Amino acid sequence: MPDSLPVLSPAELSRYSRHILLDEIGVEGQRRLAAARVLVIGAGGLGSPAALYLAAAGIGTLGIADLDEVEEHNLQRQLLHDSASIGESKVTSAARRLRASNPHLRVIEHREGITAENAAQIFDGYDVIVDGTDNFAARYLNNDAAFFARKPLVFGSVYKFEGQVAVFHSVAGGPCYRCLFPEPPASGSIPGCSEVGVLGALCGVVGSLQSLETIKLITAIGEPLIGRLLTYDALAQRFQTFAFTRNASCPLCGTTPSIYTLNAATFSAGETPAKFHDATKFGAIPLEISVAEAKRRLDAGATRTVLVDVREPWETAICRVTPSELIPMRQIPERMEMLPKDRHLLILCHHGARSLNVTHFLRARGFPAVSNVSGGITAWAEQIEPSMTRY
Ligand SMILES: [Zn+2]
Repeated sequence: MPDSLPVLSPAELSRYSRHILLDEIGVEGQRRLAAARVLVIGAGGLGSPAALYLAAAGIGTLGIADLDEVEEHNLQRQLLHDSASIGESKVTSAARRLRASNPHLRVIEHREGITAENAAQIFDGYDVIVDGTDNFAARYLNNDAAFFARKPLVFGSVYKFEGQVAVFHSVAGGPCYRCLFPEPPASGSIPGCSEVGVLGALCGVVGSLQSLETIKLITAIGEPLIGRLLTYDALAQRFQTFAFTRNASCPLCGTTPSIYTLNAATFSAGETPAKFHDATKFGAIPLEISVAEAKRRLDAGATRTVLVDVREPWETAICRVTPSELIPMRQIPERMEMLPKDRHLLILCHHGARSLNVTHFLRARGFPAVSNVSGGITAWAEQIEPSMTRY
Protein backbone atom coordinates (compact mmCIF):
# COMPACT_ATOMS: atom_id res chain seq x y z
CA MET A 1 0.00 0.00 0.00
CA PRO A 2 2.13 2.88 -1.23
CA ASP A 3 -0.17 5.45 0.40
CA SER A 4 0.71 4.12 3.81
CA LEU A 5 4.42 4.51 3.16
CA PRO A 6 6.26 7.44 4.73
CA VAL A 7 6.58 10.65 2.73
CA LEU A 8 10.19 11.54 2.05
CA SER A 9 11.42 15.00 2.99
CA PRO A 10 13.34 17.12 0.48
CA ALA A 11 16.52 16.27 2.37
CA GLU A 12 15.79 12.55 2.01
CA LEU A 13 14.90 12.86 -1.68
CA SER A 14 18.23 14.57 -2.20
CA ARG A 15 20.23 12.14 -0.10
CA TYR A 16 18.80 9.09 -1.86
CA SER A 17 18.67 10.56 -5.37
CA ARG A 18 21.08 7.97 -6.81
CA HIS A 19 18.68 5.24 -5.69
CA ILE A 20 15.63 7.13 -6.91
CA LEU A 21 17.20 7.56 -10.33
CA LEU A 22 17.10 3.78 -10.71
CA ASP A 23 13.79 2.97 -12.39
CA GLU A 24 13.48 -0.26 -10.40
CA ILE A 25 13.63 1.64 -7.11
CA GLY A 26 12.33 5.16 -7.75
CA VAL A 27 10.54 7.18 -5.07
CA GLU A 28 8.25 4.31 -4.17
CA GLY A 29 11.12 1.90 -3.61
CA GLN A 30 12.88 4.47 -1.48
CA ARG A 31 9.70 4.95 0.56
CA ARG A 32 9.54 1.19 1.06
CA LEU A 33 13.09 1.30 2.42
CA ALA A 34 12.12 4.15 4.74
CA ALA A 35 9.21 2.09 6.05
CA ALA A 36 11.31 -1.05 6.53
CA ARG A 37 12.52 -2.44 9.82
CA VAL A 38 15.61 -4.65 9.56
CA LEU A 39 17.30 -6.57 12.34
CA VAL A 40 21.01 -7.24 11.94
CA ILE A 41 22.19 -9.98 14.28
CA GLY A 42 25.86 -9.69 15.05
CA ALA A 43 27.75 -6.37 14.89
CA GLY A 44 30.82 -8.18 13.62
CA GLY A 45 32.52 -9.01 10.34
CA LEU A 46 29.30 -9.51 8.37
CA GLY A 47 27.02 -7.26 10.40
CA SER A 48 29.37 -4.30 9.91
CA PRO A 49 29.17 -3.97 6.13
CA ALA A 50 25.55 -5.14 6.09
CA ALA A 51 24.42 -2.56 8.65
CA LEU A 52 26.51 0.27 7.17
CA TYR A 53 25.05 -0.24 3.70
CA LEU A 54 21.51 -0.62 5.04
CA ALA A 55 21.86 2.54 7.11
CA ALA A 56 23.22 4.48 4.16
CA ALA A 57 20.51 3.05 1.89
CA GLY A 58 17.77 4.72 3.89
CA ILE A 59 16.32 1.82 5.85
CA GLY A 60 13.94 3.43 8.35
CA THR A 61 14.60 1.27 11.40
CA LEU A 62 17.70 -0.79 11.98
CA GLY A 63 17.96 -3.11 14.97
CA ILE A 64 21.39 -4.32 15.97
CA ALA A 65 21.84 -7.30 18.30
CA ASP A 66 25.07 -8.50 19.85
CA LEU A 67 26.17 -9.24 23.39
CA ASP A 68 29.92 -8.97 22.91
CA GLU A 69 32.33 -6.12 23.44
CA VAL A 70 34.71 -4.66 20.89
CA GLU A 71 38.14 -6.30 20.95
CA GLU A 72 41.22 -5.14 19.13
CA HIS A 73 41.49 -8.30 17.03
CA ASN A 74 37.96 -7.61 15.73
CA LEU A 75 39.04 -4.42 14.01
CA GLN A 76 40.67 -6.21 11.09
CA ARG A 77 37.17 -6.84 9.72
CA GLN A 78 34.51 -5.18 11.90
CA LEU A 79 34.29 -1.74 10.32
CA LEU A 80 31.50 -0.51 12.59
CA HIS A 81 34.04 -0.14 15.38
CA ASP A 82 37.30 1.69 15.80
CA SER A 83 40.24 1.69 18.18
CA ALA A 84 38.50 4.15 20.52
CA SER A 85 35.62 1.70 21.08
CA ILE A 86 37.73 -1.22 22.32
CA GLY A 87 36.10 -2.58 25.46
CA GLU A 88 32.76 -0.98 24.70
CA SER A 89 29.55 -2.89 23.93
CA LYS A 90 29.55 -3.69 20.22
CA VAL A 91 25.95 -2.58 19.98
CA THR A 92 26.71 0.81 21.58
CA SER A 93 29.68 1.33 19.30
CA ALA A 94 27.72 0.21 16.22
CA ALA A 95 24.70 2.37 17.03
CA ARG A 96 26.89 5.47 17.36
CA ARG A 97 28.54 4.83 14.00
CA LEU A 98 25.23 4.07 12.26
CA ARG A 99 23.49 7.16 13.64
CA ALA A 100 26.41 9.28 12.51
CA SER A 101 26.16 7.84 9.03
CA ASN A 102 22.50 8.78 8.54
CA PRO A 103 20.44 11.18 10.68
CA HIS A 104 17.18 9.82 9.21
CA LEU A 105 17.86 6.37 10.64
CA ARG A 106 16.26 5.01 13.80
CA VAL A 107 18.57 2.53 15.55
CA ILE A 108 17.32 0.03 18.14
CA GLU A 109 19.96 -1.48 20.38
CA HIS A 110 19.67 -5.10 21.52
CA ARG A 111 22.65 -5.42 23.84
CA GLU A 112 21.43 -8.72 25.25
CA GLY A 113 21.83 -10.37 21.84
CA ILE A 114 19.36 -12.91 20.48
CA THR A 115 18.44 -15.87 22.69
CA ALA A 116 15.86 -18.64 22.54
CA GLU A 117 13.93 -16.69 25.18
CA ASN A 118 13.82 -13.28 23.48
CA ALA A 119 13.99 -14.17 19.77
CA ALA A 120 10.24 -14.42 19.13
CA GLN A 121 9.47 -11.06 20.68
CA ILE A 122 12.38 -9.26 19.03
CA PHE A 123 11.86 -10.78 15.56
CA ASP A 124 8.21 -9.74 15.73
CA GLY A 125 9.27 -6.10 15.50
CA TYR A 126 11.13 -6.46 12.19
CA ASP A 127 10.39 -7.16 8.52
CA VAL A 128 13.69 -8.78 7.52
CA ILE A 129 16.30 -10.55 9.65
CA VAL A 130 19.98 -10.46 8.64
CA ASP A 131 22.10 -13.19 10.19
CA GLY A 132 25.67 -12.03 10.65
CA THR A 133 26.56 -14.47 13.42
CA ASP A 134 29.57 -16.73 13.28
CA ASN A 135 28.56 -19.97 14.96
CA PHE A 136 26.23 -22.87 14.28
CA ALA A 137 24.19 -22.57 17.46
CA ALA A 138 23.19 -19.00 16.61
CA ARG A 139 22.46 -19.87 12.99
CA TYR A 140 20.00 -22.60 13.91
CA LEU A 141 18.38 -20.38 16.50
CA ASN A 142 18.02 -17.52 14.01
CA ASN A 143 16.74 -19.88 11.32
CA ASP A 144 14.11 -21.43 13.55
CA ALA A 145 13.05 -18.13 15.08
CA ALA A 146 12.67 -16.53 11.64
CA PHE A 147 10.59 -19.51 10.49
CA PHE A 148 8.26 -19.26 13.47
CA ALA A 149 8.04 -15.47 13.12
CA ARG A 150 7.35 -15.88 9.36
CA LYS A 151 10.11 -13.41 8.49
CA PRO A 152 12.69 -13.75 5.70
CA LEU A 153 16.21 -14.47 6.93
CA VAL A 154 19.22 -13.30 4.95
CA PHE A 155 21.98 -15.74 5.79
CA GLY A 156 25.70 -15.19 5.32
CA SER A 157 28.79 -17.04 6.47
CA VAL A 158 32.52 -16.87 5.93
CA TYR A 159 35.35 -19.29 6.50
CA LYS A 160 38.95 -18.47 5.64
CA PHE A 161 38.61 -17.42 1.96
CA GLU A 162 35.13 -18.75 1.28
CA GLY A 163 31.72 -17.16 1.71
CA GLN A 164 28.10 -18.26 1.44
CA VAL A 165 24.87 -16.30 1.12
CA ALA A 166 21.23 -17.45 0.93
CA VAL A 167 17.75 -16.17 1.73
CA PHE A 168 15.51 -18.44 3.80
CA HIS A 169 11.92 -17.36 3.28
CA SER A 170 9.32 -19.95 4.19
CA VAL A 171 6.37 -17.60 3.62
CA ALA A 172 7.48 -17.33 -0.01
CA GLY A 173 7.69 -21.14 -0.20
CA GLY A 174 11.46 -21.25 0.10
CA PRO A 175 13.59 -23.75 2.01
CA CYS A 176 15.32 -23.03 5.31
CA TYR A 177 18.82 -23.53 6.71
CA ARG A 178 17.79 -26.90 8.13
CA CYS A 179 16.71 -28.03 4.66
CA LEU A 180 20.42 -27.76 3.79
CA PHE A 181 21.83 -28.83 7.16
CA PRO A 182 19.06 -30.49 9.22
CA GLU A 183 20.80 -30.62 12.61
CA PRO A 184 23.55 -28.61 14.28
CA PRO A 185 26.92 -30.31 14.55
CA ALA A 186 27.60 -32.00 17.84
CA SER A 187 27.97 -29.78 20.86
CA GLY A 188 31.60 -28.89 21.34
CA SER A 189 32.55 -29.39 17.71
CA ILE A 190 31.82 -25.81 16.77
CA PRO A 191 34.82 -23.59 16.11
CA GLY A 192 33.99 -20.10 14.88
CA CYS A 193 36.07 -17.44 13.18
CA SER A 194 37.94 -16.92 16.42
CA GLU A 195 39.78 -20.19 15.93
CA VAL A 196 40.28 -20.44 12.20
CA GLY A 197 40.95 -17.01 10.79
CA VAL A 198 39.11 -15.12 8.10
CA LEU A 199 40.10 -12.57 5.51
CA GLY A 200 38.57 -9.25 6.54
CA ALA A 201 37.79 -8.09 3.02
CA LEU A 202 35.87 -11.32 2.41
CA CYS A 203 33.47 -10.26 5.18
CA GLY A 204 32.96 -7.05 3.24
CA VAL A 205 31.87 -8.97 0.16
CA VAL A 206 29.50 -11.30 1.99
CA GLY A 207 28.00 -8.69 4.33
CA SER A 208 27.50 -6.36 1.37
CA LEU A 209 25.71 -9.14 -0.52
CA GLN A 210 23.46 -9.63 2.51
CA SER A 211 22.53 -5.95 2.51
CA LEU A 212 21.84 -6.17 -1.21
CA GLU A 213 19.52 -9.15 -0.80
CA THR A 214 17.75 -7.30 2.00
CA ILE A 215 17.19 -4.25 -0.19
CA LYS A 216 15.89 -6.51 -2.98
CA LEU A 217 13.42 -8.15 -0.62
CA ILE A 218 12.13 -4.80 0.67
CA THR A 219 11.80 -3.17 -2.73
CA ALA A 220 10.63 -6.39 -4.42
CA ILE A 221 13.11 -6.11 -7.27
CA GLY A 222 15.26 -8.71 -8.96
CA GLU A 223 15.57 -12.34 -8.09
CA PRO A 224 16.28 -12.96 -4.40
CA LEU A 225 18.46 -15.87 -3.31
CA ILE A 226 15.43 -17.87 -2.15
CA GLY A 227 16.15 -21.55 -2.72
CA ARG A 228 19.64 -20.78 -3.93
CA LEU A 229 22.94 -20.99 -2.10
CA LEU A 230 25.53 -18.57 -3.42
CA THR A 231 29.12 -19.53 -2.75
CA TYR A 232 32.10 -17.24 -3.20
CA ASP A 233 35.68 -18.43 -3.49
CA ALA A 234 37.81 -15.35 -2.88
CA LEU A 235 41.09 -16.94 -3.95
CA ALA A 236 39.73 -18.13 -7.28
CA GLN A 237 37.44 -15.06 -7.59
CA ARG A 238 34.54 -17.34 -8.44
CA PHE A 239 30.86 -17.03 -7.55
CA GLN A 240 28.55 -20.00 -7.98
CA THR A 241 24.90 -20.57 -7.09
CA PHE A 242 23.25 -23.89 -6.32
CA ALA A 243 19.53 -24.39 -6.34
CA PHE A 244 18.07 -26.30 -3.42
CA THR A 245 14.46 -26.99 -2.59
CA ARG A 246 12.44 -27.42 0.53
CA ASN A 247 13.35 -30.75 2.10
CA ALA A 248 10.20 -32.78 2.86
CA SER A 249 12.01 -34.37 5.80
CA CYS A 250 13.26 -31.04 7.20
CA PRO A 251 12.70 -31.18 10.98
CA LEU A 252 11.50 -27.55 10.90
CA CYS A 253 9.66 -26.85 7.63
CA GLY A 254 9.13 -30.40 6.32
CA THR A 255 5.91 -32.36 6.12
CA THR A 256 6.32 -34.05 9.52
CA PRO A 257 8.31 -31.56 11.56
CA SER A 258 9.82 -32.43 14.92
CA ILE A 259 10.65 -28.85 15.99
CA TYR A 260 7.72 -26.82 17.26
CA THR A 261 9.31 -24.33 19.62
CA LEU A 262 12.55 -22.54 20.28
CA ASN A 263 14.14 -24.76 22.85
CA ALA A 264 17.06 -23.17 24.65
CA ALA A 265 18.76 -26.54 25.16
CA THR A 266 18.88 -27.09 21.41
CA PHE A 267 21.03 -24.06 20.93
CA SER A 268 23.58 -24.49 23.68
CA ALA A 269 27.00 -23.80 22.28
CA GLY A 270 28.31 -26.54 24.56
CA GLU A 271 31.90 -26.93 25.58
CA THR A 272 34.41 -24.37 24.42
CA PRO A 273 35.95 -25.31 21.10
CA ALA A 274 39.43 -24.50 22.34
CA LYS A 275 39.32 -27.65 24.42
CA PHE A 276 39.36 -29.71 21.27
CA HIS A 277 42.42 -28.10 19.80
CA ASP A 278 44.80 -29.93 22.11
CA ALA A 279 45.99 -32.72 19.88
CA THR A 280 49.28 -33.43 21.60
CA LYS A 281 48.29 -36.88 22.81
CA PHE A 282 47.86 -38.01 19.23
CA GLY A 283 51.59 -37.84 18.71
CA ALA A 284 52.58 -38.45 15.12
CA ILE A 285 49.04 -38.30 13.76
CA PRO A 286 48.77 -34.77 12.36
CA LEU A 287 45.65 -32.71 12.96
CA GLU A 288 45.59 -31.69 9.32
CA ILE A 289 47.09 -33.36 6.29
CA SER A 290 47.29 -32.25 2.68
CA VAL A 291 45.30 -33.95 -0.06
CA ALA A 292 48.57 -35.25 -1.53
CA GLU A 293 49.46 -36.85 1.80
CA ALA A 294 45.92 -38.22 2.15
CA LYS A 295 46.15 -39.76 -1.31
CA ARG A 296 49.55 -41.29 -0.49
CA ARG A 297 48.30 -42.83 2.75
CA LEU A 298 45.14 -44.16 1.12
CA ASP A 299 47.13 -45.76 -1.69
CA ALA A 300 49.75 -47.18 0.64
CA GLY A 301 47.50 -48.58 3.31
CA ALA A 302 43.95 -49.12 2.12
CA THR A 303 43.28 -51.43 5.06
CA ARG A 304 44.80 -49.04 7.61
CA THR A 305 43.30 -45.79 6.41
CA VAL A 306 39.64 -44.81 5.97
CA LEU A 307 38.42 -41.71 4.18
CA VAL A 308 35.25 -40.35 5.81
CA ASP A 309 33.30 -37.77 3.77
CA VAL A 310 31.09 -35.69 6.09
CA ARG A 311 29.33 -33.61 3.43
CA GLU A 312 25.59 -33.67 2.84
CA PRO A 313 24.04 -36.10 0.31
CA TRP A 314 23.35 -33.31 -2.19
CA GLU A 315 27.06 -32.53 -2.15
CA THR A 316 28.33 -36.08 -2.45
CA ALA A 317 25.97 -36.47 -5.41
CA ILE A 318 28.00 -33.80 -7.22
CA CYS A 319 31.39 -35.40 -6.62
CA ARG A 320 33.06 -37.85 -4.29
CA VAL A 321 36.29 -39.75 -3.76
CA THR A 322 36.06 -43.52 -4.14
CA PRO A 323 36.25 -45.40 -1.88
CA SER A 324 35.01 -43.33 1.05
CA GLU A 325 32.51 -43.59 3.87
CA LEU A 326 29.68 -41.07 3.50
CA ILE A 327 28.43 -39.80 6.86
CA PRO A 328 26.99 -36.25 6.95
CA MET A 329 28.43 -34.22 9.82
CA ARG A 330 25.08 -34.08 11.64
CA GLN A 331 24.96 -37.89 11.77
CA ILE A 332 28.47 -38.31 13.18
CA PRO A 333 27.38 -38.41 16.86
CA GLU A 334 24.94 -41.26 16.31
CA ARG A 335 27.01 -43.17 13.76
CA MET A 336 30.54 -42.70 15.09
CA GLU A 337 30.50 -46.11 16.77
CA MET A 338 30.56 -47.59 13.27
CA LEU A 339 33.93 -46.00 12.66
CA PRO A 340 36.97 -48.18 13.40
CA LYS A 341 39.28 -47.03 16.18
CA ASP A 342 42.18 -49.12 14.86
CA ARG A 343 42.35 -47.23 11.57
CA HIS A 344 43.61 -43.79 10.65
CA LEU A 345 40.47 -41.78 9.84
CA LEU A 346 40.85 -39.03 7.23
CA ILE A 347 37.93 -36.61 7.41
CA LEU A 348 36.89 -34.81 4.23
CA CYS A 349 34.32 -32.10 3.45
CA HIS A 350 33.96 -29.29 0.90
CA HIS A 351 36.76 -26.94 1.94
CA GLY A 352 37.97 -28.41 5.22
CA ALA A 353 35.84 -26.49 7.75
CA ARG A 354 33.17 -29.02 8.71
CA SER A 355 35.70 -31.84 8.57
CA LEU A 356 37.92 -29.96 11.02
CA ASN A 357 34.96 -29.79 13.41
CA VAL A 358 34.43 -33.52 13.04
CA THR A 359 38.15 -34.23 13.49
CA HIS A 360 38.17 -32.35 16.79
CA PHE A 361 34.92 -34.00 17.82
CA LEU A 362 36.15 -37.56 17.18
CA ARG A 363 39.50 -36.90 18.84
CA ALA A 364 37.72 -35.57 21.92
CA ARG A 365 35.65 -38.76 22.03
CA GLY A 366 38.59 -41.11 22.09
CA PHE A 367 39.38 -41.85 18.47
CA PRO A 368 43.17 -42.12 18.55
CA ALA A 369 43.99 -41.39 14.92
CA VAL A 370 41.94 -38.78 13.11
CA SER A 371 43.17 -36.15 10.65
CA ASN A 372 41.42 -33.41 8.74
CA VAL A 373 42.02 -33.36 4.99
CA SER A 374 43.02 -29.75 4.53
CA GLY A 375 41.24 -27.92 1.73
CA GLY A 376 38.60 -30.63 1.38
CA ILE A 377 37.36 -32.08 -1.86
CA THR A 378 38.01 -28.75 -3.57
CA ALA A 379 41.74 -29.22 -3.01
CA TRP A 380 41.40 -32.87 -3.99
CA ALA A 381 39.78 -31.89 -7.28
CA GLU A 382 42.49 -29.34 -7.96
CA GLN A 383 45.48 -31.50 -7.11
CA ILE A 384 44.48 -35.16 -7.38
CA GLU A 385 41.49 -35.52 -9.72
CA PRO A 386 41.31 -32.53 -12.10
CA SER A 387 38.38 -34.13 -13.96
CA MET A 388 36.19 -34.02 -10.85
CA THR A 389 33.17 -31.69 -10.92
CA ARG A 390 33.63 -28.76 -8.54
CA TYR A 391 31.01 -26.65 -6.83
ZN1 LIG B 1 13.59 -26.48 6.27
